[in-house]
Amino acid sequence: MFSFLRHRPRSPHLASVLALAAWLTTLGNPALWQQLWALPEVDGLRGARFVLGMGLFLLGTLVATISLVAWPRLFKPVGVFLLLASAAATHFMLVYSAVIDSTMLLNVLHTDAKEAGDLMSLRFILTLVVLGLVPAIWLWRQPMPAMPWTRRLLSNLGLLAAGLLVAGLSLVWVFQDFASVMRNHKQVRYLINPLNTVYGLGKAAADTLPKTQQTLQAIGTDVQLGSRHAQQPPPLLVVVVGETARAANFGLGGYARDTTPALTTLMAQGPGLLTYYANVRSCGTNTQASVPCMFSHLGKADFEDSTQRFENLLDVLQRAGLAVLWIDNQSGCKGLCERIPNTETRDLKVPGVCDQGECLDEVMIPVMERELQALPAERKAKGTVVVLHQMGSHGPAYHKRAPANLKPFQPECTSNALQDCSREQVVNAYDNSIRYTDHFLGQTIAWLGRQAQSTALLYVSDHGESLGENNLYLHGLPYAIAPDTQKHVPMVTWLSPAMQQRLKLSVSCLKQRADQPLSHDHLFHSVLGLMDLNTQVHQPALDVFATCKG
Ligand SMILES: [Zn+2]
Repeated sequence: MFSFLRHRPRSPHLASVLALAAWLTTLGNPALWQQLWALPEVDGLRGARFVLGMGLFLLGTLVATISLVAWPRLFKPVGVFLLLASAAATHFMLVYSAVIDSTMLLNVLHTDAKEAGDLMSLRFILTLVVLGLVPAIWLWRQPMPAMPWTRRLLSNLGLLAAGLLVAGLSLVWVFQDFASVMRNHKQVRYLINPLNTVYGLGKAAADTLPKTQQTLQAIGTDVQLGSRHAQQPPPLLVVVVGETARAANFGLGGYARDTTPALTTLMAQGPGLLTYYANVRSCGTNTQASVPCMFSHLGKADFEDSTQRFENLLDVLQRAGLAVLWIDNQSGCKGLCERIPNTETRDLKVPGVCDQGECLDEVMIPVMERELQALPAERKAKGTVVVLHQMGSHGPAYHKRAPANLKPFQPECTSNALQDCSREQVVNAYDNSIRYTDHFLGQTIAWLGRQAQSTALLYVSDHGESLGENNLYLHGLPYAIAPDTQKHVPMVTWLSPAMQQRLKLSVSCLKQRADQPLSHDHLFHSVLGLMDLNTQVHQPALDVFATCKG
């Protein structure tokens, strides 16, 4: 009775294309069908009709798309890639409610082995094998008999026409529901495997390739030291680029738990020393999108539209004659530090601080001390800016981000598969990582306090995080549909009395600024303002300190 399984279809070519499209439509898309079925509009008979129409639309679209690559030597590799991409995407969609778009894919391409290791789990491997590898092996073993290219072209054109016809007719059939679902639930378009990956990779390539071929454009070529540089001692600023810290869990921001005792103590030590900015939004929802944008002079809107390559804040600081240094305790500086002194901590072996190939953020303080000594004295005499790129609250392995003696919130989730823990355990582990960032910032400020310079610290996180609200985990949703917890980030400045005096800063003015809406757009211009540098590219309207200087 199973003889049909051994039956060789008359046209194995067409059969393989149809089988691949059918698999991808159904078993390649469990997250799509699950979420569509759960929508409030999708209900009863009409809902079933809509889901069936969507299924036929996707099947037709996939047949048409695959017909374009149904050529020997191309069909099977592409088919295997589509199957594996769908299976991997399915895992992250089901487990973290992630969606697949171009910035998410860029982030994946820039992920290092350690970060990838944190996301591995038995469930991921099982999903990849069952939904990806098994059908991929089947596809690879299918015959692809030789035929004249004209005949293959005709048969592919036939597939293309049939696919488009099915897709078109089914779209007409359910158009009203289709239009309203796509309008009201924008995330659905990012759930359609494997078209989301294909489209996202295409968009990422279209966005990045023209930039890589452009020559780098200089900015701030007119930069000059301001009048305050006549005063001694020279300024020393530490910019801490935070990781995955969300404002909602920051004690200073009003969170019910005291996750920031060190910063709170510093704030109480005197007016104007420590300021918490309560209303700051990130440029992107992932590191790859946010960090380059933060250091750009363009601001979010222009940065995202720009096809040109520009220098960044660090280049301007260096051009002004300052000593500049980038220390990375994460996955790299995303190209920002290429032209300035920089160092990574990943190969350091410090007992108690570095474990399993990664270090706690505190490791950067002695590294900074050592590396600063190597910078030219004539530059340091004009001023110094150090960027510390934190590991912060990088997930999902939040429990790795703090040492055992700094984990007040228990019990914490120690699994990489966050959905296997209770929400309370996930939040505990995350809050411990914020508590450790507070400790790290406190230590850095204490170090700054010991330096014989006009010192300051500016901390801002690169994006926020979802901790299981509405079953969402991690970050990286497209900005337009991401929840505020992924975009609302903590920002802190600490200004030594010497720095306050140097800039004649008004404490009440800073206090006022602290509640106003700010964003990553302000970082570039505020650092120029804090370091008292004059250039055409500096926009005082985006400089937090501009109106507060005497
Ligand atoms: Zn990040």
